[in-house]
Amino acid sequence: MTEPRRFAGEKSVAAFEQARKLMPGGVNSPARAFGAVGGTPLFIDHAEGPYLFDIDGRRYIDYIGSWGPMILGHRPPAVIDAIQKAVAKGTSYGAPTEAESRLAQQIIDAVPSVEKVRLVNSGTEATMSAIRVARGATGRHKVIKFSGNYHGHVDSLLVAAGSAAATLGVPDSPGVTPGAGQDTIVLEYNDCEGVKKAFAAHPGQIAAVILEPVVGNMGCVPPTMEFLETLRQETLSDHSILIFDEVMTGFRLAFGGAQERFGVVPDMTTLGKVVGGGMPLGAYGGRADIMDNVLPAGKVFQAGTLSGNPVAVAAGSATLEQLAEDPPYEQLDRMGDRLADGLHTAAAKHGLPHQVQHVGSMLTLFFNARPVTNWPEADRSDREAFGRYFWGLIEKGIYMPCSQFEALFFSNLHTEALIDETIDAADKVMAAL
Ligand code: PLP
Repeated sequence: MTEPRRFAGEKSVAAFEQARKLMPGGVNSPARAFGAVGGTPLFIDHAEGPYLFDIDGRRYIDYIGSWGPMILGHRPPAVIDAIQKAVAKGTSYGAPTEAESRLAQQIIDAVPSVEKVRLVNSGTEATMSAIRVARGATGRHKVIKFSGNYHGHVDSLLVAAGSAAATLGVPDSPGVTPGAGQDTIVLEYNDCEGVKKAFAAHPGQIAAVILEPVVGNMGCVPPTMEFLETLRQETLSDHSILIFDEVMTGFRLAFGGAQERFGVVPDMTTLGKVVGGGMPLGAYGGRADIMDNVLPAGKVFQAGTLSGNPVAVAAGSATLEQLAEDPPYEQLDRMGDRLADGLHTAAAKHGLPHQVQHVGSMLTLFFNARPVTNWPEADRSDREAFGRYFWGLIEKGIYMPCSQFEALFFSNLHTEALIDETIDAADKVMAAL
């Protein structure tokens, strides 16, 4: 077995060397350092449509889409135009704008569970705030989360988290005190019995259950309908709050997110990524009686200097407008099926143990002989094979997520021809694995 060439151009290598002197690990978010696949990360110069361009002048078909936001591809004209118009008026006011109400209305109209919404700056802020509101509204402390689900770097949720935490094998980060995690109950995803037992063991004590309604952060792992329905049932009967963390799935799996797609409506929803159209913006919302606990309507504190930032709001609003006017979801589903079928056929042809799991435009090829329904199963995947697959594709101009435990995303600009080019490249890479 020959080691793959670590394909990074001279300029990326030099830029990474410099960045490592300045920032921890040379990056501002850990997955970007390529730790899970080894080698030097590619430094990006610019992006256009479905493509990324690195500083060495190489072009890649982009399957990370900024880890989710770029559902319309890079630089969609309507979004760029909206951003430019907003910037021309000012970049931040710290006072209310009509544009915020417009985006709030768009979110409320789209997402079934959301009657009122608060805009924040990131997915992490959204989940952190939603948990605080759920605790404040119920007067309870405990929160159920699921192993391998990532909800941002919120202390109380950084327990058995997926994403870079899974990749790096740091389920519990140093700096998170035992106290921060002591009210977090961690269960396995898709385990209905586990959920029922937890509610039976802690009646009247569970403030909230939070989950990724389709997991992206241990690779793509769909829920069973029984799991979603059990969660809805148990939370309703215990008067606990069901929170769908739709930071990844919101406006991606359907305009109304996973809750629309599966027809299970939670009490609260957290949003990020697509809702900000590539700018720093998150949101949390839900039933009006729950959201009215937030200051100044209620007593639960949550604030932000840049919350509802006019430039981010303009990007989010223009993105949602385009998604509503010209919904790409059927096309994304078709392309997802096409990519999944193609990758499966290629992997089978080359005798590789594998699972291709996808929902719409979220997809993971697991190097794993058995279906992946939870974190212990995901953890049995062949990371080394994934690393070789990843670098093989990079050499062919295809930029996949740099970890076995991250779902890929594609946009409405990923045409049949680009999907087929990707399958063809994957076939060639797999032949040599
Ligand atoms: N929740 C989910 C499901 C996520 O995938 C992420 C980020 O990947 C977050 C929350 C955190 O969002 P952010 O990175 O914007 O803080």
